[in-house]
Amino acid sequence: MPASHRTPPIDADEATLRTHLEHAELPALLVTLAHLTGDDAILRDELRPDGSFMAGPQGGYSEHQLSVARKLCLDALSRYRDAGCPPPTRPTETQIRGWLGFLVGDIDLESYLPLLLSELALDGPAARAPQWRKAEVAPDRDFRVAIIGAGMSGLAAAFRLQQAGVPFVIFEKSDDVAGTWHDNVYPGCRVDVPNHFYSYSFAQKADWPQIFSTQDALLDYFRQCADEFDLRRHVRFATEVTEAVFDEEAGSWTLALRGPDGAESFEAQALISAVGQLNRPNMPEIEGMESFEGPSFHSARWQHDVPLEGKRVAIIGTGASACQFIPRVADVASELTVFQRTAPWLLPTPEYHDPVPEGLQWLFTHVPFYAAWYRFWLFWTGSEGLLGSVVVEDDWGDPKRSVSEANDLVRVMLTEYLAEQCGDDKDLLEKMTPDYPPFSKRFVRDNGILPATYQRDHVSLDTAGIERITPSGIRTADGREIEVDVILYGTGFTASDFLMPMKIVGRGGCELHDVWDGDARAYLGITLPHFPNLFLMYGPNTNIVVNGSIIYFSECEVDYILACVRKLLGGGHKAMDCRPEVHDAYNERIDAENLRKAWGAATVNTWYRNRHGRISQNWPYTLLAYYQQTREVAEGDYEIW
Ligand code: NAP
Repeated sequence: MPASHRTPPIDADEATLRTHLEHAELPALLVTLAHLTGDDAILRDELRPDGSFMAGPQGGYSEHQLSVARKLCLDALSRYRDAGCPPPTRPTETQIRGWLGFLVGDIDLESYLPLLLSELALDGPAARAPQWRKAEVAPDRDFRVAIIGAGMSGLAAAFRLQQAGVPFVIFEKSDDVAGTWHDNVYPGCRVDVPNHFYSYSFAQKADWPQIFSTQDALLDYFRQCADEFDLRRHVRFATEVTEAVFDEEAGSWTLALRGPDGAESFEAQALISAVGQLNRPNMPEIEGMESFEGPSFHSARWQHDVPLEGKRVAIIGTGASACQFIPRVADVASELTVFQRTAPWLLPTPEYHDPVPEGLQWLFTHVPFYAAWYRFWLFWTGSEGLLGSVVVEDDWGDPKRSVSEANDLVRVMLTEYLAEQCGDDKDLLEKMTPDYPPFSKRFVRDNGILPATYQRDHVSLDTAGIERITPSGIRTADGREIEVDVILYGTGFTASDFLMPMKIVGRGGCELHDVWDGDARAYLGITLPHFPNLFLMYGPNTNIVVNGSIIYFSECEVDYILACVRKLLGGGHKAMDCRPEVHDAYNERIDAENLRKAWGAATVNTWYRNRHGRISQNWPYTLLAYYQQTREVAEGDYEIW
């Protein structure tokens, strides 16, 4: 990592190259070859792709464009091979601008350029590295950072702090890194964002096994990052932070820890919470739950020692987690009943379970920088484009159906897909068709497997509602008794309870959970008044529904946190506290904008909304907006002393 710089020489003959190119994503390959050869002639105007999400793969190229692009790539690749695969010279900024412009088309390139360059990260880990080191800005300052959590976010923070030479310790309650990818081991668990994009910009990986890799590959990736970047020695595993108290005089946080050696305390000048949102199982309150005599467990606490083979199984919930394990449980259970309260929208993804095609894999591992340009291309086509389809149009017809013309178009496409998949089974189609606008809840990717599973003889989708759980099964609201041996809860997480169950005490003794009262807010999702030097990652309103990957947000947050640490160190300051008026005005803007998005306008229940009815999870703007707002600490946003 980054693999783009380490590729074996190309010795394939022309026929083999031609075969490999059948699987290439051509817009990204054209740019890669311009990059490798320094010859932009192959970036012909008539091959400028459509970089919008709706264009689909290959930038919407016609058959003719595909054939022209393939031929140009074949010729350029052959020439590159015949020249002995020389390492490319470092491109000029003008060249990179030209290549980015070719891929992203008609946008405000000047505004986007810094973001695009940092996502492209041609310089690997150095690309976004802090341009300062503690040894230079505050060599004698006794300053260390405590990070809570060694999952995706915590590792990203650790990596950049290490680059800046700032001492840090990570406290992790589990016995390994990787957070959600460590906890979720249910059958069928896999990432639902294309993997070459769901990876750190500073640790790009060319050889993902699948387009959407399975949990074991993700776990390996984060473990490998921890090892390669030598982060493990900073992690105290099996150690839980139970409390953190800010000392205003000292400008430091005192943490109460519970670890293998019992209770202890730890002092740090800055505290980063990287505990994630989706890790505390949400167990529903259904009458009679405790009376069930068979085994039952939540998807994030899977009990592999409970055999499901030949058993009558009930699954409660049809969110992203359940929809991944429903087909796998159906493969082994003798009878499976899935209890659905709200139908998810299925996003057609034919390649969802596919390995990376051999030709594409070959290109990633043999053509320098192709993996980086491919990742960038995925980033771009999966980012801002879809946001337009969630914007609420004033006075738009039926708010239960859609929120705008663009949103309705998505609805029509997704409904057609469902109709195709359900075939003659009209009853199933009715059950599977959501009665709320697309993207007001998280979609579920599908390659046809979910409707096909529901059509298996021993599987049924039950939408009557659950009245109670009995010692031997589930009683439905319409009075049926369904006997089962095992109950599996795919009922999600208590996502709105940010930072629970830790006790966090800020200035003047105020307690975070009293301040929030179940309605978590923060400035940029990162800082909040009265809690100086506390930085949240994946905090309130930093989740995305349709655009981007959560890793993108984590990297932006880390950039901002590093800028804060730089300010504290460089200015010789003890602490910085977000000004209440800045925080409040920001949250007003966020709330207003969320109401203008499908998830804010729709009335369907969703984990994006907290018990006060407010959307506390989602970022309603573009990725660019978050990037721009997290570049530097604006003068006046903080009280600093
Ligand atoms: P979720 O989206 O919150 O789904 C929970 C499911 O349980 C919903 O179908 C919900 O129904 C149902 N449910 C909850 N309480 C219930 C009750 N009392 N009775 C009946 N049904 C009940 O949780 P999730 O599937 O674990 O996914 C959470 C998030 O994690 C996703 O949105 C996604 O962001 C992330 N995720 C990602 C991946 C991935 O990348 N591969 C995989 C899994 C999860 P209602 O819809 O009616 O509330």
